[in-house]
Amino acid sequence: MNLVVKIGSSSVTTDHLDVNHPVVDSICDQLALLHSAGHRVALVTSGAIALGLGRLGMLGERPADLVTLQAASAVGQVNLIAAWAGKLAERGLVSGQILLSASDFMERRQYLSARATLGRMLDQGIIPIINENDAVADDEIRLGDNDRIAALVSGLVGAEVLVLLTDQDGLFTADPRRFEDATLIEEVQEVTRELASLAGGRGTTRGSGGMVTKIMAARIAAWSGVETLIAAASNPEALSSAPTRRQGVGTWISKSRRRLPSRKLWIAFALPSSGFIQVDEGARRAIRDKGSSLLAVGVTGLGGAFAAEDAVEVVSEDGGIIAKGLARIGADELGGELQRRRAGLASDVSALAMHRDDMILLEG
Ligand code: GLU
Repeated sequence: MNLVVKIGSSSVTTDHLDVNHPVVDSICDQLALLHSAGHRVALVTSGAIALGLGRLGMLGERPADLVTLQAASAVGQVNLIAAWAGKLAERGLVSGQILLSASDFMERRQYLSARATLGRMLDQGIIPIINENDAVADDEIRLGDNDRIAALVSGLVGAEVLVLLTDQDGLFTADPRRFEDATLIEEVQEVTRELASLAGGRGTTRGSGGMVTKIMAARIAAWSGVETLIAAASNPEALSSAPTRRQGVGTWISKSRRRLPSRKLWIAFALPSSGFIQVDEGARRAIRDKGSSLLAVGVTGLGGAFAAEDAVEVVSEDGGIIAKGLARIGADELGGELQRRRAGLASDVSALAMHRDDMILLEG
């Protein structure tokens, strides 16, 4: 089985911004078990920034400026990879470092190249140790969220299971840090908006994730045909029991019934959105129930300075996201049509705002 496992900064590092050796050892033990059982595993690890800040003696409040954080990540990435590669080698495993950037998911050629390299590593029994290339990615293009990277990687390598290891046992009915009666949700069939709101806010100060990014990552994974397990990094069997889909170790999130082709996954989850197109109820139904393209006649508003071929969200009158896709015409032209129609002037109501082949339905 192909698996992708992601572990967050709050688990990989200690309060003193040092490597959390017991946790890393336990994950390496489990990786070794999986490897000897013939499974192929890629590891996505955070912790570069946290470890770098530790090495630089910046133990207080996390600096706000990005360049300092980038410099810290360059320092910490070395420690991070040394810890993982060293401990894996002690268990007879060969690993290699892959640093990914947003453009590796956004540009088709790079996407295919990353896929080929990762695939070859897995074929050769090498454990890829993956992080974002934090040191050089500026804020504009930084993905900044390893949960999402892990989900995108799980699609990239055709994983069956994505394991997100964190400092909680899984997803709870309420924030367990605040509500004593919160209980663990063991199974989720579909990631809905209500579920995302259950997940509460940000995690710890060391990590950037929290449950929301995990839920969103699980959604990407689901659309990629991958099941997700959210479990505690401190649980010594969470990862190794993933191939048997053992219940009780965390929250399992099912894959969705239909699997999006990789081009649609790329449009839906890798491309940043440059704006939105708001549509009326008729257009919403036509898109959702009949698989129609979006025509200018159904557009009731728009936002952002998007051009043709940019990715935009399609939202309903109440602001909920219905779909995402590539606009066929830019905001200026579409806005012009809208204004003319509103003013009762002749407008091209059948102008194609978004073609169905470039659109991914995201409702529900
Ligand atoms: N890439 C960042 C790091 O290694 C972490 C990003 C995240 O927390 O998701 O420090």
